[in-house]
Amino acid sequence: MPHYEFFCHACKKKFSKSLTIAEHEEGKIVCPHCRSKNVEQGWSDFSAITSKKSA
Ligand SMILES: [Zn+2]
Repeated sequence: MPHYEFFCHACKKKFSKSLTIAEHEEGKIVCPHCRSKNVEQGWSDFSAITSKKSA
């Protein structure tokens, strides 16, 4: 099962999750810390999240 990295904007925590492709495509990702759906998929460098918002 693929392993994805996420960042939660609600509680500002990173988390990783193993999802099936179907789960990932349906966007059913919730933060395990605060249950928010305000999560963004991250990659190896989470600092890229903020910088790309300015585009
Ligand atoms: Zn959260």
